[in-house]
Amino acid sequence: MPAPVFDLSYTRLPQVLYTPYQPTPAPAAIMILHNNALAKNLGIDTKWLSSGAALKFFSGQTPPDAYTPLAMAYAGHQFGGFSPRLGDGRAVLIGENVAPNNIRHDIHLKGSGRTSYSRGGDGKAALRAVLKEYIFSESLAALGIPTTRSLAAITTGETIMRQKPHPGAILVRTARSHIRVGTFQYARLCQDETVLKTLADYSIDRLFPEINAPNPYTELLSQVIEKQAKLIAQWMSFGFIHGVMNTDNMAISGETIDFGPCAFMEGFAPNRVFSSIDHHGRYAWNKQPEMAYWNLTRFAESLLPLLHADEDKAVEIAQERLAKFSEIFTAHYNHLMLAKIGLSPDMDGAPQTLSAAMSMLAAHEIDFTLFFRRLTDIAGGESEEGFLELFPQETGVKTWLKTWQKLRASKDYDPDIALAKMQTLNPVYIPRFSQLETALEAAEQGDMDAFNQLLAVLTAPFNEQKQYAELVIPAPDTDAHARTFCET
Ligand code: AMP
Ligand code: MG
Repeated sequence: MPAPVFDLSYTRLPQVLYTPYQPTPAPAAIMILHNNALAKNLGIDTKWLSSGAALKFFSGQTPPDAYTPLAMAYAGHQFGGFSPRLGDGRAVLIGENVAPNNIRHDIHLKGSGRTSYSRGGDGKAALRAVLKEYIFSESLAALGIPTTRSLAAITTGETIMRQKPHPGAILVRTARSHIRVGTFQYARLCQDETVLKTLADYSIDRLFPEINAPNPYTELLSQVIEKQAKLIAQWMSFGFIHGVMNTDNMAISGETIDFGPCAFMEGFAPNRVFSSIDHHGRYAWNKQPEMAYWNLTRFAESLLPLLHADEDKAVEIAQERLAKFSEIFTAHYNHLMLAKIGLSPDMDGAPQTLSAAMSMLAAHEIDFTLFFRRLTDIAGGESEEGFLELFPQETGVKTWLKTWQKLRASKDYDPDIALAKMQTLNPVYIPRFSQLETALEAAEQGDMDAFNQLLAVLTAPFNEQKQYAELVIPAPDTDAHARTFCET
């Protein structure tokens, strides 16, 4: 049973960017979840992952001998206000794994104790927050959305206080990299251009090795803009709301990260917000592109000294690259949303049919996921009944369906190709509030059955499983007023 050989390339960066840190050993650690499918992708032995050795490693009892783990430093704009020093306040980079395909992933523990960046926090994580991140990350990944992943979850044997006492836990999370927009903001604040340049070079080397341009930093900016534009389009096409899109929660790898108070929208309302801490709707579903652009502007500002020696020219270059965001986002979003209804942007009348659908959804707050899925069922030859049932009155809907069917009857239309796409863009299962809440409550009492059942359907979200019929349907009236919490 070979233990994985991790290393830590991040220690080659200037020391201002991190603090060496050995996690506090958990008093009575138990591994309650481990992700064999992910381990296989990473080339990590699944027998090792479920062994006592892995548990000891991830719960801080056996430190790595080849290097000292570290807590990363970063800054961040939180809900628009700038904090110059955030950093891993309850997390540690315990190692990096190089998979057989040569791709390097961070192995990161969240909830592993206080660090020099903890400020007033206890450095711990509540079991429910860990399980929530676990299930959302695995759900996003199964939907095909770039995201950090969950390799394992461990209860620590501690009780931690939030609004009330909760069991404590550690999430073992993986990412292409945890470098954030906020990491670049922090590097820029160091007032030492070599720190910024070294971070940028490291990022390019690790995440964008294909960059080969006269100024690689301009290209880095472009690549990060493109990845974020596509990511936000994907989120929105599944009704996903990140909830806390602060610059410290935006990874330059283009992976979804730190989605504490996130949610999948159930009844469609474009300005829907769930996060209990988002008082002004800053990160509402339909504000996400604008907010990503705002964050990317902060990223560009951090890079300015590397873009050109002359500051005015650097600003010009940054603006020219940032201007591409909207175009990339819109094209990607339209393409995905049209494919969800089995149409494509080049078909006459397709965009109008999509906007009519979105207005219909918003007018009646129709369940976002069920709308597209039941339309997929019709495209697959089923009757219109299940689809029509979603609406309070049928007239407008029937007219819309007729227009849709007419478009699908046009001569170059290939219904099989369209259906195959619909089946990969329109899931049956998303994490729904009431189901997740029930599963988390039971898990806190030590019963993981409901959680494991949910995890099983969410990791194969496009396959309808008849025995789990009740997991398809939203509970009445749970959605619109639901509030999500960080519960960190
Ligand atoms: P988040 O909004 O969860 O992404 O976290 C924002 C910042 O607060 C990061 O610097 C975290 O490390 C820090 N933080 C959040 N919760 C805790 C905690 N329980 N203890 C210490 N630091 C924390
Ligand atoms: Mg964060």
